[in-house]
Amino acid sequence: MMAAICAAQFYHPVILLEKNSSCGCKLLLTGKGRCNLTNLCSLEEFLSRFFSNGQFLRDAFKEFFNTDLMEFFRERGVELVVERQQRVFPASGKAKTILETLQRELRGRNVQVICNCSVKDIVTEENHIRAVKLKDGRRLSACCVVIATGGVSYPDTGSTGDGIRWARQTGHSIVPLRPGLVGLWVGTDEVLPEGLTLKNIRLTFFNQNKKIITDIGEMLFTAQGISGPLVLTYSGLIADWLLEKKEVWVSIDFKPALSFEQLHNRLLREFQNAPAKRWKNILKELLPISMIDVFVKRLGFSPNTTANQITARQRQQIVQLLKDFRLRICSTALLKEAMITRGGVSVKDIDPRTMQSRLIQGLYFCGEVIDVDADTGGFNLQAAFSTGWLAGKSAALLAKTKTLS
Ligand SMILES: Cc1cc2nc3c(=O)[nH]c(=O)nc-3n(C[C@H](O)[C@H](O)[C@H](O)COP(=O)(O)OP(=O)(O)OC[C@H]3O[C@@H](n4cnc5c(N)ncnc54)[C@H](O)[C@@H]3O)c2cc1C
Repeated sequence: MMAAICAAQFYHPVILLEKNSSCGCKLLLTGKGRCNLTNLCSLEEFLSRFFSNGQFLRDAFKEFFNTDLMEFFRERGVELVVERQQRVFPASGKAKTILETLQRELRGRNVQVICNCSVKDIVTEENHIRAVKLKDGRRLSACCVVIATGGVSYPDTGSTGDGIRWARQTGHSIVPLRPGLVGLWVGTDEVLPEGLTLKNIRLTFFNQNKKIITDIGEMLFTAQGISGPLVLTYSGLIADWLLEKKEVWVSIDFKPALSFEQLHNRLLREFQNAPAKRWKNILKELLPISMIDVFVKRLGFSPNTTANQITARQRQQIVQLLKDFRLRICSTALLKEAMITRGGVSVKDIDPRTMQSRLIQGLYFCGEVIDVDADTGGFNLQAAFSTGWLAGKSAALLAKTKTLS
């Protein structure tokens, strides 16, 4: 949508082909329906939040960055708010506001939007783009084509990897597709408390017993494992370890602000204050209730034991588990369930100054179809908007020179 809007400033006609009955299905799901459209941090910090190929985006961001995007929406009457960690949302709290603004702009710029129109293939001739073939058999001539088909996650929204297939067929290198920003599955028979969110915990990830990542934040237990912001951030790296068949463990520290000794003293105090109370019930002071049964089972002490019957060694074991609750990570959730697709069209085959293919003249790429992916926080949408803007402008300028000649 952004590519078409920008292209229409420089060239006519611009046609947007969308296989769904309307554009922006995935956009409506973003930010839990609120659309975290960008992030207001500095360019360097922004680039550092990309897991792959952030540097490739420098030119696109120079052309159209976070403040340009915010101005774009504000000029069109959309009020924006900046929330914690510089995340930008529409003040309406609705992704629909962003989508409707883009749709209005498409209409205003006379972009011909054709929905329910699935592109089957692109047609090239002597390394030049010539046309697109539609699924219904029609063929549309085109001197420039921008591929903005997204990745392969959440395929129900229309992102089924078609553009990646066309790129491969026309000789572009494709970096293998993997899930990014995705939940992790754990290998345990325990019944973990699905839906429980833990705030201010420390997660430490081990690759073959080596501590590699440790960070404080928020996580969530899911039906098959763990998710939430902290897990999503590191999930791409962990997916790579799992692909390499590495043994991966995560340790949850429920009380990262307290040292082992401080936590031990705290527990001792709790036990001394209520010597006749069952130790299991005292755990409520230190753990969410739905976690207690898991602890009781792991520790194996009778739940009926009273605090004054708990031995010093057992106290140490309780503290040890509070500081180091380990789970084996056996897999990531599926690629189709991931928030983003890692991999895609290799940046080596795209000119970062224009987003044009280095192999086919008149063919451009933007958004998640390219091998760029970032953390949560508005970085992925800004990458899509910026590369879309640059691809649209470059394609329109090339189309103009072709028309003139
Ligand atoms: C649940 C969820 C929440 C997210 N939240 C955020 C967030 O808050 N902030 C953020 O920055 N990022 C977020 N993301 C990531 C962000 O949504 C994507 O990175 C972004 O949508 C990519 O945009 P795109 O235009 O490249 O591709 P897409 O949004 O996937 O759009 C591709 C479009 O191409 C169409 N298409 C595909 N194939 C064809 C074909 N053959 N013919 C015609 N049309 C076709 C599709 O129907 C679709 O409309 C989220 C992702 C998910 C899944």
